[in-house]
Amino acid sequence: MKVARTGDWTGKENVPFSDDVTIGLKTDGTIFRWNKLAEEIFEYPAIEAVGENVSLLFSKKNFQKETEALEKAKAGNTARLEIDCKTKSGKQKFISFFAFPIFNEEGEVVGISKLAYDLSLQKEAEEKQAALEAIVNFSNDAVISKTLDGIITSWNPAATTLFGYTEEEALGQHISLIIPKDSLVEEELILENLQKGQKIDHFETIRMAKDGTEKPVSLTIFPTFNKNGDITGASKIVKDISYKDRDDEKQATLAAIVSSSDDAIISKTLKGIITSWNDAARRMFGYTEEEAIGKHISLIIPKERLAEETKIINSITRGEKIDHFETERIAKDGTRRYISLTVSPIKNSRGKIIGASKVARDISLRLEAEKQRDLYTQRLQELNKYKDEFMVMASHELKTPLTVIMANLQLLQEMMENDENAIFVEKAVKQVDKLSELVGNLLDVSKIQAGKLAFKPTDFDLNELLNEVANNLQQTTKDQKIIYKDKGAKLIVHADRERIEQVIVNIINNAIKYSRKPGDIVVNAGNKNRTITVNITDKGIGIPTKDLENIFLRFYRVSGSASSFSGSGIGLYISSEIIKHHGGKIWAESNVGKGSVFHFSLPAANKPK
Ligand code: ADP
Repeated sequence: MKVARTGDWTGKENVPFSDDVTIGLKTDGTIFRWNKLAEEIFEYPAIEAVGENVSLLFSKKNFQKETEALEKAKAGNTARLEIDCKTKSGKQKFISFFAFPIFNEEGEVVGISKLAYDLSLQKEAEEKQAALEAIVNFSNDAVISKTLDGIITSWNPAATTLFGYTEEEALGQHISLIIPKDSLVEEELILENLQKGQKIDHFETIRMAKDGTEKPVSLTIFPTFNKNGDITGASKIVKDISYKDRDDEKQATLAAIVSSSDDAIISKTLKGIITSWNDAARRMFGYTEEEAIGKHISLIIPKERLAEETKIINSITRGEKIDHFETERIAKDGTRRYISLTVSPIKNSRGKIIGASKVARDISLRLEAEKQRDLYTQRLQELNKYKDEFMVMASHELKTPLTVIMANLQLLQEMMENDENAIFVEKAVKQVDKLSELVGNLLDVSKIQAGKLAFKPTDFDLNELLNEVANNLQQTTKDQKIIYKDKGAKLIVHADRERIEQVIVNIINNAIKYSRKPGDIVVNAGNKNRTITVNITDKGIGIPTKDLENIFLRFYRVSGSASSFSGSGIGLYISSEIIKHHGGKIWAESNVGKGSVFHFSLPAANKPK
């Protein structure tokens, strides 16, 4: 469109569209015309605007666009531009400009006529609408609107998430879609309120999802109006409070745990200000909750331990937990409390560390018990030492007179060789023999305790020793037959022969002793992978399983029927110490009432090079 103007084109006459904002520009952008509406919209009176450059209305960046539009008009075309302008008072206005070239009679462009339309209000309304839509769309709460008849007219994505119906499924449906039958009456009350133009705030009730699950919700409902102010419907914000219920429950459970805990639970800020204080803290430190909250934690820290707090806070700030740190705190009455502290960082919902929670366990009783236990252990060790010393002393003291008695009895025996009373001396010799053995064993135990049991190892044939012992011991019993299954192979070990003999004698003697009826005692021995193992099987009374692992302990004797046999409970202890000393093993298997098998093993001696 070409708009040709003739005559005084700077005058007020002949200006088209005078009902619009009209601005006349020279080709260099100087304003030469500025009508009343331009004054209103841009706030510059004509007297100020005329003579100024049109750049007056634009920011630098926008003026670039304006220049392009002007160039287009100067080239004889109509240009259209929607752009932000600034008014005299600095307000932003969104303006739609049309720029027309003004031609002189020669058809040259001598100016530009601009028409302007203020779109600010429209833009603002559009933006507002878009913002509202965004809020509704991105809201975590369901937002639903409905007519006064209850027909759903809007349904946001959160409503879909909460109730399971899509927007398409919900729109046009009656709101009773999500109201449980027994709550339908609520809807009438809600409508009544709405019709009176009243808002309903945080009304907690139950709504129903598509899959039939009940949803605890909090409703906020407000009427919507048309332009004339008539109520046309309602919008409701539906907040899912099932989490709130759960959170409330959790909170209540935690609060109950904290208040009933026997451990003091205290929380504080990173600056050390106490923010919570449970009942156990009151009992432990004597301050009430009111007295403690708001105070610095140094309230309960002994002066000489104040540095600990800095260390604790430093660890907490780094996000580190402090576990079972044993320390002292001071109660209101000045008494010391021995505690085990566990301190953990408290984080806010964004994960930032905002404080520390400490759990303090009173360990005064435990420390006292530990002290007592240490004292008892010490006392016990002392008494044990006295007992060991006594045993050493007693067995030594017994040994000398016993040797003298034995020597004299043997003399007597020789002198009474054919005497009919010799039998009494023989009996006495037997008993003294037993006594000597017991004293010898007691001495061995003492030596083992003191680590002084001496060994004289030599290479010898265990096969030979077993034959010898079996034969000798057979002389002492008529009821039991001792059978050594000699395989004829040499079983050379490097060990103290006398001590190993002591072990075999002890085991075979036990086999003889712990039998109530005649039976065979079978001895077997063999060499496998350079380990020589000896097994001694009896058909005696047997040993209950629970006792098997204890019979090698010092002074241990099986209770019950076994206790009717005389003994001291040290033979197997000495045997096991002897075997262990030689790098071997000793163990037993047994069946109560059927018999037992005792095993011991020794490493075979190195072959002579
Ligand atoms: P004791 O002098 O009591 O025999 P030991 O140390 O030799 O002491 O044996 C410990 C305990 O093991 C015995 O009191 C006995 O109860 C049990 N015991 C040892 N050997 C046998 C066995 N062959 N049969 C049954 N019980 C046995």
